[in-house]
Amino acid sequence: DSDAWHEQERRFREGWEHRRDVASLSRRQLPCVDPNRAAHFMNQPDSDWTQYQTREQLDEAIANWTPALPPPAADLDAALDCAVAAAERWSAESVLQRAEILHHAGQVMQQRRFESIAEMQRTCKKAIAEADAEVSEAIDFARYYAEHYPHYPEVVGKPLGVVVITPPWNFPYAIPCGGVLAALMAGNAVLLKPAPESTDIAWLLVQQLWDAGVPRDVLQFYPCADGETGKRLITDPRVNAVVLTGAYQTARMFQSWRPSLHLFAETSGKNALVITAQADRELAVKDLVRSAFGHAGQKCSAASLAIIEAEVYDDPIFQRQLHDTAASLMVGPATDRTSVVTPVIREPESSLMRALTQLDAGESWLLKPKVSAEDPCLWSPGIRLGVKPGSWFHKTECFGPVLGLMRAENLEQAIAWQNDVDYGLTAGIHTLDESEQVRWRDSVQAGNLYINRPTTGAIVQRQPFGGWKKSSIGPGSKAGGPNYVSLFARWSDASVDV
Ligand code: GLU
Repeated sequence: DSDAWHEQERRFREGWEHRRDVASLSRRQLPCVDPNRAAHFMNQPDSDWTQYQTREQLDEAIANWTPALPPPAADLDAALDCAVAAAERWSAESVLQRAEILHHAGQVMQQRRFESIAEMQRTCKKAIAEADAEVSEAIDFARYYAEHYPHYPEVVGKPLGVVVITPPWNFPYAIPCGGVLAALMAGNAVLLKPAPESTDIAWLLVQQLWDAGVPRDVLQFYPCADGETGKRLITDPRVNAVVLTGAYQTARMFQSWRPSLHLFAETSGKNALVITAQADRELAVKDLVRSAFGHAGQKCSAASLAIIEAEVYDDPIFQRQLHDTAASLMVGPATDRTSVVTPVIREPESSLMRALTQLDAGESWLLKPKVSAEDPCLWSPGIRLGVKPGSWFHKTECFGPVLGLMRAENLEQAIAWQNDVDYGLTAGIHTLDESEQVRWRDSVQAGNLYINRPTTGAIVQRQPFGGWKKSSIGPGSKAGGPNYVSLFARWSDASVDV
């Protein structure tokens, strides 16, 4: 329970607990490395599935879950007129009143955690552990923005007005939640336009936020087709800003529709994990498999490449361990609680299909991906050996359960290949050598750098999330970080000379 957890967190910060205990906790429960920051904010722990009652509660929620069908999109003109008026009223509320509602949203999301998991499992084929972590992240966004923004120096920002949030389907709960709450916290009205694949879960989120006290005109749900209506929405002058998490091409399309658009876009990634000869190899295998195959590789943060120093790459024991770890992951439908690799969102199209079925010159399979006879979306993990610098797989984001291995002579070569992609979202390294860690950290070009940990699963406040290069368009904002909410306001300095 939360008292026990707070007590444990306190003991960690005071240095009471031993390493043995730390190892038994999930990363969310570990104390923040900076004790001053941890004092202000604590992350929401994921569910404890070792508890029989927790498993039972989830079973019950899944068995009884009856989704409410989302309404059709309202008339765009009416929705935007209503949003403009709502923005005016909402921005006049005090910052602390808005923060209070965000806090309450965090409570509601925690109380209704299991129905959210049930819905993500049903519509987005998310494995339970992945869906559970999304709810924790969404709650973190609510509490962090509510706690942090009122203390932001000089809170005199004027909200932008009406903000449109266009989230992706791969994090169908946490990402819309983070965008919506940041915009609301700064005093804007919001139209949430869900991804067509995850309309139902976005609708559930909106209902939860309304129940928590967010006024219905301040947050409107606006499901619409991506085509003509989407274009009308983005180009309407009553819309003051757009938040997009999606493909780089989509962001460019929005900009071509409306060159002056105030756009915050977090786009694609082609992320690699470097493993040097100084790595803890077993830990590296574990983190690599998690980074590559969590949510079947459908994360912008996923590592679809491992760039491995020759001594490790050539080690048959390392290859065997990597093969066996990936091959032992349970592959199955999201409805089966033991599944780790669940189906991809739709039958693989062009680039993912190519990645799963076709090798380039010099490549071979360490582990060949297989498709299920029952479900064309269900693929087992694939690992390609011999990916060459400059090759198709080195450069292309595939968004599926497939990983390529590159053999590097040394760390410098590994870093050069890691940087030699258009994107710069996440990057990882496994090495126990501190001088290697520093060399790598100082030269790798990506927004989120991870040392001796997976490249996925950024935690609010500890690892604000956002990229460089083609992974980000706009002011390079980092969700879950100290400056994020202030992006949704215009700032002015007022000083009076005396
Ligand atoms: N924030 C997520 C993570 O760290 C990734 C979000 C995304 O795929 O856009 O894994």
